[in-house]
Amino acid sequence: MKSLLEPQESASGVLSPRVIPRSEHPVSRQQISEPALKVLYRLNGAGFDAYLVGGCIRDALLGKMPKDFDVATNATPEQVRDLFRNSRLIGRRFRIVHVRFGREVIEVTTFRGKPQDEHGDHIAQQSDAGLLLRDNVWGNIEEDALRRDFTVNALYYNIADFTIHDFANGARDIDSRTLRLIGDPATRYREDPVRMLRAVRFAAKLGFTIDADTEAPMYDLAPLLLQIPPARLFDEVLKLFMSGHGLVTFRMLSHYGLFGMLFPEAEEAMADAAWAEELIEHALANTDKRIAEERPVTPAFLLAAFLWAPVAHRQAELEGEGMPSIPALQTAAQQVVTRQLQHVSIPKRFGMPMRDIWELQGRLPLRRGKKAFQTREHPRFRAAYDLLLLREQAGEIPRGLGDWWNAFQQGDEHDQRRLLQKVGGDPASQGNRRRKKRRKPSKPSPE
Ligand code: ATP
Ligand code: MG
Repeated sequence: MKSLLEPQESASGVLSPRVIPRSEHPVSRQQISEPALKVLYRLNGAGFDAYLVGGCIRDALLGKMPKDFDVATNATPEQVRDLFRNSRLIGRRFRIVHVRFGREVIEVTTFRGKPQDEHGDHIAQQSDAGLLLRDNVWGNIEEDALRRDFTVNALYYNIADFTIHDFANGARDIDSRTLRLIGDPATRYREDPVRMLRAVRFAAKLGFTIDADTEAPMYDLAPLLLQIPPARLFDEVLKLFMSGHGLVTFRMLSHYGLFGMLFPEAEEAMADAAWAEELIEHALANTDKRIAEERPVTPAFLLAAFLWAPVAHRQAELEGEGMPSIPALQTAAQQVVTRQLQHVSIPKRFGMPMRDIWELQGRLPLRRGKKAFQTREHPRFRAAYDLLLLREQAGEIPRGLGDWWNAFQQGDEHDQRRLLQKVGGDPASQGNRRRKKRRKPSKPSPE
């Protein structure tokens, strides 16, 4: 029997929502930031509808503190902008308004309608493959709800009376910890393949189970991600791996064949060498741990770890063709990055340090004379050393160099001299033997 509390289908085919009164849900204004409340009250005071929707209500219902607030309203973007001096219109795919309060930004979107009208006419632009290109068609709250991705992301908190409006059985899915797409899953993935990444991200982050029908099309549709602009995928990659649940996320992405659509060469390298996957897993486990401890993390390190195996593989090939080790590493890095950028973009502020971390892998074995001190002073030394440890841990290279560097960093002058003597007396440990072809024989150094 259908529960009276569930959304009811009306004669027009539009769902009327289940309205959950304040007394029957736990979302309180204490969980809502001051700026978000300000935006809601001002919109409401000006005669518009104003709701909180999306992740903030989902997270609040799960007892988590929401991290950002999305507002949905029937005011148009221009009307919103006119109400808030501290606001601006943004958005390529969707026009939305950002209202800024210091460091906090409240995102305000106008209810959007269906991409097609009842006669099947295209209102929004759609590519042949069903991909939504632009859709700035305003609609009512019901339509807005049905355009959202998952049922648990379509819960609306009404500031007028503190009720929650549930158009898609989201409350039920919150209770059963289920991630379920609204509508026909394959159609929704075709409209926007990034929803596959979002499914995995939310399942991993919230510990939800992906509903069987929502899960099934992913295996076949994963390649649709290849159509998504690299810049959008970079934003998604950050959210996937820098939110504290990277390892689980990585395993789920691999399971559905999604990881290879983002990092094809990393995927190939993992098929080639077991250490490649171990390296990525260790890197993600470390990142998750650091985030849990509220220590800083950088995408540059993680990207360096993801792409290290392809770089090392290519470097070995080039060395096999007779190129010396250091230029081979630089060339390999260049080639791997160029190909990677066709899938996921990497902004310079992360790309530069990523390459430094790789380049230092070539310098860490070279420790004679002043080299160890110079390497130690490099701004990316710490990250490079961390990657070295992961490489040893994953079994790419034998253990030893990491211990040496650990002792060198911690040691006093006397220890350092002793450590340098160790490597000085053993030219075979220099890694780059070409260094022996110096013009002048090196003076016996005091090291
Ligand atoms: P979080 O902010 O915790 O990552 P979120 O659910 O708030 O999660 P956002 O990316 O902030 O995610 O999006 C806000 C809301 O917009 C979502 O909850 C969802 O309702 C809707 N939404 C976002 N992206 C899509 C999409 N690709 N397709 C359909 N609806 C989407
Ligand atoms: Mg959000």
